[in-house]
Amino acid sequence: MKKRVTLTFPRQVVQMPVTYRLAKDFNVAANIIRAQVAPNQVGKLVVELSGDIDQLEAALDWLGQQGIEIGLTSREITIDEESCVHCGLCTGVCPTQALTLDKHTWLLNFARSRCIVCEQCIPTCPVVAISTQF
Ligand code: SF4
Ligand code: SF4
Repeated sequence: MKKRVTLTFPRQVVQMPVTYRLAKDFNVAANIIRAQVAPNQVGKLVVELSGDIDQLEAALDWLGQQGIEIGLTSREITIDEESCVHCGLCTGVCPTQALTLDKHTWLLNFARSRCIVCEQCIPTCPVVAISTQF
């Protein structure tokens, strides 16, 4: 069974070798889809966990006991290219630089692989071009 989750790490456990522990203690493979983890800061990982259903549940319980917040996610950010006016407002709030303005064309560039689906960009857009999709 596979489960995609967002893990939010408090500062004190941000350096914990979580994927190693999941594999060793629970036989759960963790495929990191997106990561925003810096020393001494709150970290976020979007991971796809795969393993036996009971071990997956046990692994999620263990993560919770470590103070790691678990969110189930299958959402993706979508930018409506027809509506976007490339004002750049959304780039100012994006914590991972997934949203940037191209230095030459001044057009909005969205690097999906960097997006952690924090949704901070959504309310900044004056033309409501940003949304989440399941
Ligand atoms: S949801 Fe928006 S602000 Fe958050 S990481 Fe993705 S693009 Fe950046
Ligand atoms: S805030 Fe909206 S209109 Fe402006 S660049 Fe971002 S997506 Fe485009």
